[in-house]
Amino acid sequence: MHRAADGGLARVRVPGGRLRAEQLHRLADLAVDLGDGALELTSRANLQLRGLAEGAELDLGAELAAIGLLPSRTHEKVRNIMASPLGPGDLVAELDTAVCAESELAALPGRFLFALDSGAGDVAWSRADLAALPVGDRAALLIGGVDHGIRLAVDQVVPAMVACAKAFLRVRDEQWRIAELPDTSVIVAALVDQEAQGQPFEARIPVTVSPTERVTPGTPPTGGPIGPVVFADGGLGVGAAVPLGRLTAEQARALGDVVITPWRGVVVRGDLPELGLITDPSAPGIGVTSCAGRPHCHKALADVRAAALAVSVPGRAVHWAGCGRRCGRPAGDVLDVVATTDGYLVDGRAIPGERVAEAVAQGRQD
Ligand code: SF4
Repeated sequence: MHRAADGGLARVRVPGGRLRAEQLHRLADLAVDLGDGALELTSRANLQLRGLAEGAELDLGAELAAIGLLPSRTHEKVRNIMASPLGPGDLVAELDTAVCAESELAALPGRFLFALDSGAGDVAWSRADLAALPVGDRAALLIGGVDHGIRLAVDQVVPAMVACAKAFLRVRDEQWRIAELPDTSVIVAALVDQEAQGQPFEARIPVTVSPTERVTPGTPPTGGPIGPVVFADGGLGVGAAVPLGRLTAEQARALGDVVITPWRGVVVRGDLPELGLITDPSAPGIGVTSCAGRPHCHKALADVRAAALAVSVPGRAVHWAGCGRRCGRPAGDVLDVVATTDGYLVDGRAIPGERVAEAVAQGRQD
């Protein structure tokens, strides 16, 4: 738990964004009993509770463990797994369990990210350290966002990711991410040169390395599924954006099983009740995100949530931040709005506070 100006801030990791109804409803109760009454969705499809009193983390931790959301005290910070919201998510639990079972992986930096892409290409390029992306009946393993031609059977994705994460820990110095390493060949070698690495034959992970085949790199999408959706298994559902990423307890209690998306939205199977969530892809609230801002964060120079809500023009994704740290900024092409001591920077351009709504409206439509 971090301390913020409005109390304790606790992040609850939700691998793959998959939450069962009973977990979501209990989280809603905890947000009311211990926090400020809302669940905040993060750009990694996790949840945050804020406004927690001193010491509330003890009750919260016990409650989260009881509903299966704190399976490992040692590995909590490294359970960072994103998955395509409409995909099967079938490897999420297997990867989570495998990461938690390796004691040395508790030392992974908290920013290290695994991504399991269904083939939609929606999470593979989202700055993950290790990402699996289906190619035909096999999976490409992207290392530090780069396709080195490594191809695996789908049932080898989890052991390959664990092997690469361990290799990263062996070679990292101060780096937090694989892409920051001066040379990622050691990570690649953990799979392609297992013999040279002294891996016993029976423990080797079968991989093939294509000399030429490479997946065309994609860009991280700035928006998730909105409106009617079809899941990878053919099931129908609805995707919705959560205004400014804050799901109220009442909204959470009215939902069933959900998938939280990395675009601060939810996807549900079947129908979505009318809850004030955004299901119109052309609505002004689509693509609008904000950090906590004033009065919730000590560093904030402005009430950016209020400022964001005052602009009702749809268009390009926009992220409002109360200072230059830009917490919670989504990946990809996003209009950057950063509060300063005398106004805002809108995509780096200084704008007085009284003109920021106009500048953002124009920036969203450019
Ligand atoms: S971007 Fe700045 S103001 Fe916003 S939450 Fe982060 S530290 Fe606080």
